[in-house]
Amino acid sequence: MSVMNDDQGWDRKFVVDAMLKNIVSWLRILGYDAIYWGGEDDELLRLAKQERRIILTMDRDLALSALRNGLEVILIMENDPSDILANLASRYGISLEFNPNRTRCPICNHKLTLSRNEGREEWLCPNCGKRYWKGSHWKNIIKVFEDSQKKSGLI
Ligand SMILES: [Zn+2]
Repeated sequence: MSVMNDDQGWDRKFVVDAMLKNIVSWLRILGYDAIYWGGEDDELLRLAKQERRIILTMDRDLALSALRNGLEVILIMENDPSDILANLASRYGISLEFNPNRTRCPICNHKLTLSRNEGREEWLCPNCGKRYWKGSHWKNIIKVFEDSQKKSGLI
């Protein structure tokens, strides 16, 4: 039985350190509030505490300081986004399925507004003005989500 059914952890928020920048977009596309942090570790810890964000890092020292400060942290050992997402799904029950009504702007993290234009789904970011649709790389995006579902044992 998966943990996905009742709680998909939508209230989970993440802060991701510089080495894992790429995972930020994946989390946003799935609808999770994720920010990237390229500054000082101390500030990252403060931010995580203030905004109750889960820290994702590849840096052991940072992970240790986070633990010492009583913060939630995941030390990432994988490089492949689908491995990382599978890990987060089994740990926090995050959804690995694309939801057109929940998705966030991969650029700025704001919630997107869905509209249908001549039958085509289109998303607008009210914050940065970017428009998105299921273009040529959509298949690759879905493949990462499917791979992560397989790896987490959900399908
Ligand atoms: Zn945006």
